[in-house]
Amino acid sequence: MNDASMIKILLLIGCVVVVNILLFWRQNVDMSENRNDLEAQVLSLQRKRDYLLLKNADLERQIHRMELKLEHIETQVRDFSQARQDRKNLPQIFFITPTKFRAEQKADLTRLGQTLAHIPNLFWIIVEDADEPSEMPTKLLERLKFTSSVHIVARTPPEIRRNESDPNWKFPRGVAQRNAALEYLRTNHRSFKKSVVYFGDDDNVYDWRIFDEMRRIEKVGVWPVGIVGGTIVETPILAPNGTTVINFTSIWKPERPFPIDMAAFAVNLALIVENPTAEFSNHVPRGYQESHFLESLGLKRSDLEPKADFCTKIYVWHTRTENTKLLKRDRQRLQNPESLNLIEKDAIL
Ligand code: UDP
Ligand code: MN
Repeated sequence: MNDASMIKILLLIGCVVVVNILLFWRQNVDMSENRNDLEAQVLSLQRKRDYLLLKNADLERQIHRMELKLEHIETQVRDFSQARQDRKNLPQIFFITPTKFRAEQKADLTRLGQTLAHIPNLFWIIVEDADEPSEMPTKLLERLKFTSSVHIVARTPPEIRRNESDPNWKFPRGVAQRNAALEYLRTNHRSFKKSVVYFGDDDNVYDWRIFDEMRRIEKVGVWPVGIVGGTIVETPILAPNGTTVINFTSIWKPERPFPIDMAAFAVNLALIVENPTAEFSNHVPRGYQESHFLESLGLKRSDLEPKADFCTKIYVWHTRTENTKLLKRDRQRLQNPESLNLIEKDAIL
């Protein structure tokens, strides 16, 4: 081999080496670019991971809060249905209201109905002093969504109402109506022996607490009444033991066997069922309705069970609705309701 060929071979080898170096260098550059890309991707994925971890922790916190809320709601639902069950198990109160048409009747019954509508397990017996039931009490019972109620009638006999206009004469009120309610109970509710019966006139004012007091009565419960009998309060007086009634504060006819107002007591329904002839009477002296009725149930003063925090609280007032002074014209039109216009009808019917 001559020198020239030698040089050619060397040049060729040189070229191959240079090309390889260039190729190697090129590969290196590509790899490092790839690496940078990959590193950037790794960084971005790490950021995404951190973000998702944070989000996850936040969602877990939210789930925990929701679980607590759910637990709270479940407890409330349990308490609510328990309370509903407890209300259903309360002894029933039969609330007897005699009522007679007059300008103020709708106002009085609306006020009373709106009080009674809040009382659990109360059965309202409305007894109208009339020959036929009128629409107003029926509509009131519907409007207030009473599910336990009845609307019956019993007319006060005309001979009892005699001298009605004489201001010095007061005929016995509510007698026929209360007796009709007793009859209704004996016929339709004999089995509700745990229940109590209360005579609630339409113009008195009743604190809700009186109903808690009267639910648990063995025979006859008794309590003070506000603004009655010419005094601020009439109340039974208790012996120092706090459980026996030994006297009463009434100044009007204190010699009565039970010198108390109709609003001052409630009796167990069982007594009414077991004493089928017990009733009110049109033929007893004024003020003796309560005594006559309680004695006809075979009760004695020693049977009285003091309520309303040992007779220290007033939960019922013997308020009286004044007879509204109407113009002669309106007084006459009241007797003939057809003569009233729509809004006047809405006021009283
Ligand atoms: N009452 C009745 N017919 C009448 C008079 C009154 O049914 O002729 C009702 C009246 O609506 C009330 C109860 O009997 O619910 C007692 O009457 P009132 O309130 O006039 O008696 P007082 O308050 O004088 O005891
Ligand atoms: Mn009254």
